[in-house]
Amino acid sequence: MRPGFMLSMILVLCSTCGLAAGTPSQHPRVMVLSINGAEWDIIKPLLLRGEMPNLARVIEHGVYGKLRTTSAPVCPKVYSAIFTSTPTAENGITGFKIGGKVVRSEMLKGLPFWKLLSDRGVTVGMANVPATFPVTAVKGYMISGMLTQGGNCDGVLCAPKLSEVRNGDAVYPQSMIPELEAKVGDFHIDCSAMPTAADLRGKEKDVIDQWLAQVSQIRAEQTKLFDYLLSNHPTDFTMFTQSCEDRVGHWLYPIQPYNVGYESKLHEVKVDAFPDQYRQFDKILGMVLSHLDDQTTLFILSDHGIKPLRDNDLDLHHDHGGDTPVIAHHNFEDGDDVPGMFVAMGPHIRKGEHLMGFGVSVLDIAPTILKIYGIDAPRAMRGRVLSEIFN
Ligand SMILES: [Zn+2]
Repeated sequence: MRPGFMLSMILVLCSTCGLAAGTPSQHPRVMVLSINGAEWDIIKPLLLRGEMPNLARVIEHGVYGKLRTTSAPVCPKVYSAIFTSTPTAENGITGFKIGGKVVRSEMLKGLPFWKLLSDRGVTVGMANVPATFPVTAVKGYMISGMLTQGGNCDGVLCAPKLSEVRNGDAVYPQSMIPELEAKVGDFHIDCSAMPTAADLRGKEKDVIDQWLAQVSQIRAEQTKLFDYLLSNHPTDFTMFTQSCEDRVGHWLYPIQPYNVGYESKLHEVKVDAFPDQYRQFDKILGMVLSHLDDQTTLFILSDHGIKPLRDNDLDLHHDHGGDTPVIAHHNFEDGDDVPGMFVAMGPHIRKGEHLMGFGVSVLDIAPTILKIYGIDAPRAMRGRVLSEIFN
């Protein structure tokens, strides 16, 4: 018996596996790699300099452009619009907290698109996607992301490890937890909290170095997790989110001395810290690409961009937990000031096309993915199928 066939049989027989690795599927394959806050202003120079070769390759073989986001885009709000293809007023997720309570997946009104996929027999694998805690049952697996609650973390901009999760499940099915602990280790589910002004005072360089070292560690854990899942639990539909880019941009955006809030002790220490996040992201993209065949459709998305503070944003300078010296943000009332990123490549996607303007919205993601699986979007969904990206 061929070893690959034997492995398939073992996995088919494993009732707790969630899905059977190696089992051929009749469904199309779609991979969504989402970045919490990808800023074209930083990424485009890196592309020109040849410092994001994997993203450059995807753009060359696919379509790319801005992604119109919500007004005052914050992550849970935008991801909820992506999940349900409904505006905030309809899906109910207005921010990190509602009525003083940290947002949980149960608060989402409307059906997320992966539930529709799963109900139609499409296997679904998701990891570190914001606003999915506590995780819900799918035909496959789900590992939560931002807003996961832990012992010392209420879920807002902090980073519980898998072993520290409280008040709900971070992994579905639960039987996957010992496997992940053994094969991946006790990984952080989200990115680190930013230091406060008091933490930084007088020891800026040391705190910045230590914090960036932790970000690198979390990214290494996420990379290992994603690589493990793609190798051992392939699914028809897969969605992973990278979370540290946004966090770094908030307080280490490479700003100029004329920008509001400039402090030389902070902003001259590691001017490359934020671009470095995208250089590192490109390596993760390379790993993900190594797992995809030419029949898989890949979407690279971000929920919003991020820009330096402007005139009337001064009150946000110490936002994010109250006393964090934030220098850039994405909570602009006009979401068109901080568009996200949209990139797609696949067997039926047009090649080498730049999508101009704001034609693509976060509301269009769910109907477009459903369409690839031959599923019509329910009437409640407000977005449209992005027919212009297909051949
Ligand atoms: Zn975000």
